[in-house]
Amino acid sequence: MDKVINVTEGDHIIRALAANGQIRSFAATTRNLTEYARQVHNTSPVVTAALGRTLTAGVMMGAMMKGEKDLLTIQIRGNGPMKGLTVTAGSPQVDTGMVDVKGYPLAADVVIPAKPAPVAGIRKLDVGGAIGNGVLSIIKDIGLKNPYVGQVALQTGEIAEDLTYYFATSEQIPSAVGLGVLMNRDNTVSQAGGFIIQLMPFADDEIISKLESMLKDMPPVTTLLDEGRTPEQLLEYVLGDFDIEINDRLPAQFKCNCDRARVEKALISLGKEELDKIVNEEKEEELKCQFCGKAYKFGAEDIKRLLTKAK
Ligand SMILES: [Zn+2]
Repeated sequence: MDKVINVTEGDHIIRALAANGQIRSFAATTRNLTEYARQVHNTSPVVTAALGRTLTAGVMMGAMMKGEKDLLTIQIRGNGPMKGLTVTAGSPQVDTGMVDVKGYPLAADVVIPAKPAPVAGIRKLDVGGAIGNGVLSIIKDIGLKNPYVGQVALQTGEIAEDLTYYFATSEQIPSAVGLGVLMNRDNTVSQAGGFIIQLMPFADDEIISKLESMLKDMPPVTTLLDEGRTPEQLLEYVLGDFDIEINDRLPAQFKCNCDRARVEKALISLGKEELDKIVNEEKEEELKCQFCGKAYKFGAEDIKRLLTKAK
């Protein structure tokens, strides 16, 4: 996308090149969509952090996609109490550049002890402990017959490290991923955001080692977010010495595209036998969208109608 969309307020992503195109980078601020997700799923702080980090990665990885109907899914499954989460993001919309994202945790109310703070005053929620050991899958549906699926073992379950490992092993792109969510005292979201920095295949050794030493000395993303840095300032902090050109700013939002027709399809797929049971029990069936919590009600008459379409 060549169009520069001016977004200065609200959630957004920036895309930038640095070092004459040898580095590509993304940064995002996602406070509003993370807070929205927290409210929809009524998440505990550690789950808010896990979901917010993954939604933040989702919008940036959505911004990497080019096709109008491309769809990206980040799926994390682990043996910890949270069990995992799923986030999906679209590509930037043609007219507005908007990147839609949605996501849900498998368990929303996990409470586990926080880890000792690496930086005084900042609570370090144990996201890795909540997720446990498991697998990160990236599914890219770019309109081909079969979607692309990349899978790696979770490295820490802290999500940023796991994505860094995914990019290096599955896509062979050396990357640095930083993701952070900060909570207010009342457990609402005060800041959320992050960055993805990637080396292009033709990057000079000199650029690579300079970038590596910059990243090594960098404070945690949460510290930078706590200082109120915008996505531009995040990238300037890391890539300031590399001549950044910011290419565009894209708005981002939490948006679910569920509707009654989609839910009906899910009901039909239960099959005749299951639907018969529902009709016989004469109860009203309420189905909730996993992503956004919207409830869809189906009475006995509705189910009877769906029965004619079921196998
Ligand atoms: Zn929904």
